[in-house]
Amino acid sequence: MEPVNAESLVNRFNGSVEEQYGTLAYDTALSTLLAVLLYVLLKVSLDGIRQWRARISVLVVGSGPIGLTAALVAVRTGKVLKLTVLDERYRSALLCRPQQIALDPRSVRFLLNLGVDFDNMEGCWHNEHFFTKIGVFQEYLLSILERKKQKVDVKVRLGTKFSEEYLRKMFREERPRVIIVADGSCGDSCSVLGISADYIVESCRAYGANATIERLDQRQVPTPEIRAHSLYFDLSAYGINTVKEPRNSSQPAVKPGFHLKIYGTFRNRYMALACTSDADSKMMHFLRHTANPSVMKNIFHQSFNAYKTDIEPRLSDVTLHHMQCSRMLFEIMLSHRRVSAAYIEGDHVAVTVEGEAARVLNFDTGCGVNLGMRGLESLGMLIYRTATALDQNDVFEALLAKIQHSKHVAETFRQTGLSSEMFE
Ligand SMILES: Cc1cc2nc3c(=O)[nH]c(=O)nc-3n(C[C@H](O)[C@H](O)[C@H](O)COP(=O)(O)OP(=O)(O)OC[C@H]3O[C@@H](n4cnc5c(N)ncnc54)[C@H](O)[C@@H]3O)c2cc1C
Repeated sequence: MEPVNAESLVNRFNGSVEEQYGTLAYDTALSTLLAVLLYVLLKVSLDGIRQWRARISVLVVGSGPIGLTAALVAVRTGKVLKLTVLDERYRSALLCRPQQIALDPRSVRFLLNLGVDFDNMEGCWHNEHFFTKIGVFQEYLLSILERKKQKVDVKVRLGTKFSEEYLRKMFREERPRVIIVADGSCGDSCSVLGISADYIVESCRAYGANATIERLDQRQVPTPEIRAHSLYFDLSAYGINTVKEPRNSSQPAVKPGFHLKIYGTFRNRYMALACTSDADSKMMHFLRHTANPSVMKNIFHQSFNAYKTDIEPRLSDVTLHHMQCSRMLFEIMLSHRRVSAAYIEGDHVAVTVEGEAARVLNFDTGCGVNLGMRGLESLGMLIYRTATALDQNDVFEALLAKIQHSKHVAETFRQTGLSSEMFE
């Protein structure tokens, strides 16, 4: 046997202690990592289960086209346990509205994703737009909501006004986590909820005028719209010479002159006349300031007879009294709410304002409903994020995103909305 000296013994001992320390450190690191991994895994799955199970109550105020579409969006999120839809009007008053609505291709795609089957709705297609009566559209959406009752507790309360009394009663029973206000341009539900009535009013850099013709002896079936561009009117009888303006090279996208749209049913015909404010000609100046009400009436009268469909009757001097119209050209303005979403502290309710309650044009283009549909594109996310929120901050962030989207909708419309609805 070889003799072992003390030095090598100490070295060997130190070596094994280092090895042991190394193993211990490695084991500790590994078990910490495992514990962290386990914690993360557990948290992710618990959060996942919580998010998956999260269901909230939602209240929609107003059963116009936007309120009812909002209700469908809510159901579609899969995060709604109870949905209440109100309207102060009774069913018959709600569904007898004569206006026609024109859904543009983007709104059509949005509605298809919500399960709307256009093949089963009275209406007609033209240029990828779907034309139907507002009442037909509302009735169809009500029937879809009816079918959703198997999955979600849906309550449609027609003839019920959202008021302070309703709010007090509702908060005593069961408070919704999200309230969608879609009570139209004349609704006052926002003031009931304490939301400011301040509007931002911005010019769309265009002038317009509207006319309506009501002829009770005519058909009430959905009809495609008619558009005409680059119109100039003979105003020589009023001392105004018609000079065609040269095309503005900085605005090549928009044709010069006036743009006309005839829409609605034969029974309820609507007309919109618009021009951009870039070319401030003598004619436009005259039409913006004339005190003579027959000037615009003559323009609409002549334009209708020139561009109407062949199968509908002309307007004659005898039937002209069926037509009502703007007295002069006015500046087209978009008004949108300064506060389009809010949080009711204490009651923990997120509120969003949609449709004409949120933004409205002073000029009817025949496509008003599409502006409201744009706003609804961010509604599903608001409901999802509110339902799955961990705390108030998450709800605030969701509301902030909704407000930003609402501003974006208004700004985009101001920049390009009239172009697609009138000028193209
Ligand atoms: C004369 C005219 C012609 C039009 N033509 C066209 C057209 O051709 N094409 C087109 O796309 N658009 C057209 N529009 C615009 C279209 O009607 C609107 O864009 C659309 O109705 C707006 O939908 P909304 O759901 O935001 O509001 P609304 O349709 O106004 O619905 C709001 C609902 O809220 C209810 N309500 C109000 N207050 C309360 C309350 N306190 N409690 C409970 N319920 C309440 C009201 O009864 C109403 O049913 C026209 C509008 C007018 C006035």
